[in-house]
Parts: sequence; C-alpha cells; structure tokens
Amino acid sequence: MRKRNRAAAGVICPFCGEAEELYVDLGGGEHQSYVEDCSVCCRPRLVTVSPGDSEGEVSVSLERDE
Ligand SMILES: [Zn+2]
Repeated sequence: MRKRNRAAAGVICPFCGEAEELYVDLGGGEHQSYVEDCSVCCRPRLVTVSPGDSEGEVSVSLERDE
C-alpha cells in the first residue's frame, strides 16, 4: 500500500487572520518545524508539525516568527 506523503491542514495566519490550507511534506517526518511565509501577507510564520489523531495525519500550528 502506498503511503500518502503529503497532508493538508487548515490553519489561520497569526498575522493577518487569513484561513488557508497548508500542505505538509510527511517525508520530513511527523515532527517538524520550519518557517514559511504567508501567501497573503508575506510575513514569516513558524510552522510546528506534530502527529495527529490517526496515522498519516498531522496537526499543525502557526506562530509568529519575529
Ligand atoms: Zn498572513
């Protein structure tokens, strides 16, 4: 069985409040943190990925990276 290598998570930008779908590359594991700019306001958010409730799912949180 082929494993999904990308997961989508609904997030809200901590700067502009815009809701968006963020795609997480699961090839990097279920624990990740990286900085990604908002596609709307272009400010950097610290993305923290942790394992979700079921396999292949992740939970994602965004913080301001200032
Ligand atoms: Zn934004």
